[in-house]
Amino acid sequence: MTVRESVRPLAASEVGDYDIETEVLVVGYGAAGASAAFEAARAAARVLVLDRSGGPGGASAMSGGEIYLGGGTPIQRACGFEDTPEAMAAFLTAALGAGADAAKIEAYCAGSVEHFGWLVDRGVPFKPTLWDSPTWVPPTDDGLMWLGENSWPFTELATPAPRGHRPTANDFGGKLLMECLTEAAETAGATALFDIHADALIVDDSGVVVGVTARRYGREVRIRAHRGVVLTTGGFVDNDRMLAAHAPELLGHTKVSAGTDDGSGIRMAQALGAAVRHMSAGQVGMSLIPGLAARGMVVNARGQRFMNEDTYPGRIGQAALYRQNMGGSWAGGDTAVWVIVDEEGFEAVPESQRWGVRPHQVAETPAELEELTGLPAGSLTDAIRRYNEFAERGADLDHHKAVRWLRPLTAPFAAIDVKAGVRPPAESGNRKGTGASVFTLGGLHTDLDGHVLDLDGAPIPGLYAAGRAANGLHGFGYISGTSLGDGTFFGRRAGVSAAARA
Ligand SMILES: Cc1cc2nc3c(=O)[nH]c(=O)nc-3n(C[C@H](O)[C@H](O)[C@H](O)COP(=O)(O)OP(=O)(O)OC[C@H]3O[C@@H](n4cnc5c(N)ncnc54)[C@H](O)[C@@H]3O)c2cc1C
Repeated sequence: MTVRESVRPLAASEVGDYDIETEVLVVGYGAAGASAAFEAARAAARVLVLDRSGGPGGASAMSGGEIYLGGGTPIQRACGFEDTPEAMAAFLTAALGAGADAAKIEAYCAGSVEHFGWLVDRGVPFKPTLWDSPTWVPPTDDGLMWLGENSWPFTELATPAPRGHRPTANDFGGKLLMECLTEAAETAGATALFDIHADALIVDDSGVVVGVTARRYGREVRIRAHRGVVLTTGGFVDNDRMLAAHAPELLGHTKVSAGTDDGSGIRMAQALGAAVRHMSAGQVGMSLIPGLAARGMVVNARGQRFMNEDTYPGRIGQAALYRQNMGGSWAGGDTAVWVIVDEEGFEAVPESQRWGVRPHQVAETPAELEELTGLPAGSLTDAIRRYNEFAERGADLDHHKAVRWLRPLTAPFAAIDVKAGVRPPAESGNRKGTGASVFTLGGLHTDLDGHVLDLDGAPIPGLYAAGRAANGLHGFGYISGTSLGDGTFFGRRAGVSAAARA
């Protein structure tokens, strides 16, 4: 049998015998897929999970493991923080940007304490201690961290509470999270098949999705799903053609993925008439150490500050890529960003937390630093003088960095070029290159129960999606933890819906 290359749906009438039959078919075994598989199996459906890799995990297993949870979780309360679903929703509505899904945010925040309990019941441990400084991932096993809630402008829009919940691990917690979720899914009865790439959906005469056609070791495999197909295949950052078509600003940067984000789930559903949302949106991680940035200044190619450095660092990345770009080629676009710190600020962050970052230029005066970095003459002199004036008066009138992080910078000064990269402890290489590490946020349009919606807004019968194959909560903005958060939360709902389908 020849292998089918197209994503166009296959008519069920053309399929003779199926190679495999199941009730709920989950395509993609990351956090969203494991959550869907668990719930569908718990509802007594026969569940098969496919993954193109040799095992489960996807990007979820490589991740920091931060999960955005709040509304008064036991961890928040044990750390002395009051929180409400309303305050959490107000923050997410502001932080996730224009077009964030209001109904999903409301459901996600209202269900967040329950979802925390669900994770704990699946064996995911969280330590009730707070890491209280800007970072990508706490270097300790603290279970709670701030993700920009205590930074401007959010301090004026929502009652702040830390909501980054990370499974008990020093540094990255994604592996532990995935171990717990896959064990839960398999204990509930889900089975899995690896090294198999789903290529297209199979649809019956009335438009119901009844299975997929896939490839395994060069052979086509046709799988019948009697209740539904759940697409949890991740985003499309590894598909340069899709990036060029939808999110060209994200081309050429370090890809934050397991290398499997080929957009195949999105394309399969699009080929059937599925709607997509916010396909240009992306998370932009800058290769900077948030603890150093908060203690100093972040400047653009003109030597000017452009954001409060104590905010969630992905916001600095988005601002650098989308708003500070000086033009030229967008592919691998100009993310010219320097972190300027003094010795006291640099030494305040222990070496183990600096992820291999060292000062690239050190100077006794701002003018000398301008010469060494090539930043315009006078720019750092002005920026440091203005910053120090704000620090002296205890108010950052330009960018509203919290007073806690404002201190006059004194010689010697150091400049760190983000293009030199960082070396996160859980990764083998150095993130060297453009200074930006990206993944996509756009994806299939789904409803609160994970149904994939068509261009008229109607559910496509038998088809569900969650995780980064879907757009989930997001508008144009991103906050760490909302990807694993919405993937597991709405993945569960998709699994329940698919299992319940007659
Ligand atoms: C280093 C790193 C750190 C991160 N830190 C965080 C964090 O702390 N918090 C957070 O919320 N997010 C974080 N993220 C982002 C987050 O990990 C991902 O966005 C999230 O895991 C996506 O989950 P998912 O279940 O949708 O996809 P994945 O976990 O990527 O799973 C998708 C699976 O689908 C499989 N697949 C794809 N296409 C097919 C196909 N056609 N057929 C069969 N199988 C297929 C893939 O092999 C993969 O296993 C991080 C990511 C990385 C890489």
